[in-house]
Amino acid sequence: MEKPKVATVWLEGCSGCHMSFLDLDEGLLDVLSAVELTHTPVTDFKDYDFPEAVLGIIEGAVGNEEQVEIIHKLRRKCQLLMAWGDCAVFGGINSMRNHIDKEVLLRRGYVETESTVDGRVPDDPEVPELLPRVLAANEVVNVEIFVPGCPPSPEAIAYALTEILKGRTPTLPADVMHFD
Ligand code: SF4
Repeated sequence: MEKPKVATVWLEGCSGCHMSFLDLDEGLLDVLSAVELTHTPVTDFKDYDFPEAVLGIIEGAVGNEEQVEIIHKLRRKCQLLMAWGDCAVFGGINSMRNHIDKEVLLRRGYVETESTVDGRVPDDPEVPELLPRVLAANEVVNVEIFVPGCPPSPEAIAYALTEILKGRTPTLPADVMHFD
């Protein structure tokens, strides 16, 4: 029987949520026997041509134009989307920049740092344009499931996945909501 497909993306985040997923250790074998991971940083896919999937998992906030495009593509191909970790759930640490004007921020980062000589703000069209402010995943697309934490514990991830595969919307119990 064909396994349900799951895709994961790494947007504006530190990869810690995916690392927590890998921290399932031998529990990963149970996950991989139950689902097929399609596009995910774990399997090192470089394009965003997602196949149809039951579940799309989002690590990271949405901070630039390319990430807006990726999350829309994922939404179109997935029956359910899960925001995974504080960055995806509410913007997380990335949203610290939201009270600073984008141009001021770029100038401070690329031109005015004490260690920079002759700096300039990148203007290569290949570099995705920053959004004026960082957005949580559900400010851009509809998201059905939220698993907060920085990162969510491996147990929270396993619990959420198991519930989804059973056709239930996960309600995370308190004992999986802290990182031991
Ligand atoms: S929620 Fe925490 S661990 Fe996950 S990407 Fe954001 S900063 Fe990293």
